[in-house]
Amino acid sequence: MYTLGIDIGSTATKGVVLQDGDTIVASSTVDVGTGTSGAQRVIEALLTESGLAINDMSYIVATGYGRMTFDLADKQISELSCHAKGVRWQLPDVRTIIDIGGQDAKAIKLNSKGGMANFVMNEKCAAGTGRFLDVMARVLETSVDKLGDLDLASTEPLSITSTCTVFAESEVISHLSNGHKTADIVRAIHESVAKRACGLARRAGIEGPVAMTGGVARNGGVVRAIERDLGLPLQVPDNPQINGALGAAILAWEEVASAKNNPQ
Ligand code: ADP
Repeated sequence: MYTLGIDIGSTATKGVVLQDGDTIVASSTVDVGTGTSGAQRVIEALLTESGLAINDMSYIVATGYGRMTFDLADKQISELSCHAKGVRWQLPDVRTIIDIGGQDAKAIKLNSKGGMANFVMNEKCAAGTGRFLDVMARVLETSVDKLGDLDLASTEPLSITSTCTVFAESEVISHLSNGHKTADIVRAIHESVAKRACGLARRAGIEGPVAMTGGVARNGGVVRAIERDLGLPLQVPDNPQINGALGAAILAWEEVASAKNNPQ
């Protein structure tokens, strides 16, 4: 039996096809989010990779900011529940999740059974989110997938004091024109994102092990900056950006399994 989870985010669309609730048979990420052709492109990629048809899907769950825009979904479920479920499946011991996406950041505390015990979210400000990193990568004439390695060469401490993305962008420009090394500026950018994420995690209550998910977890520089700030190692799943879609596919499977066990 196959189930499909789709996470239509603000910045990217992700999808997973799961077989019998325990094997990923296809996954896809497209770098455009809600209001675009992202969902259609993810579905096409998933069906091509798995060799399946949309009618082979027993149940489809949509999550993410754009979840209400997807007509093929049998159910919509919040990202918080999907992220908690995805992490429980991939990293069963984890008790705190830091998720940083394109336009929001959240800290989710899990109970011993993997259910959500508490969460704290920043969805009001671009600082501390993927958008902040996207803006800074552009100013530095690079791309977000290169930022993680760039900060490895940092030797001089530097800080970005502004909490506003627009002012922080001006600070980066002034660091550049003052001749500071790109590696040092990138590390300061990562530390600024980490500081905000750790603030959320401390408010939610940190209990280890701690995992990081979302597209920004693909940036090793942010992962290392959070580890330094918390003084704890982070667990990062193999493909952290598809964690919400995976959780959606697992919840879709649970819907079918519970309907089978409780026929009406
Ligand atoms: P959303 O669900 O809000 O669309 P995602 O969890 O998909 O967000 O994360 C999107 C963010 O992930 C982007 O803003 C970008 O900063 C970051 N990102 C995406 N791909 C990469 C990559 N290859 N390396 C580093 N960061 C990445």
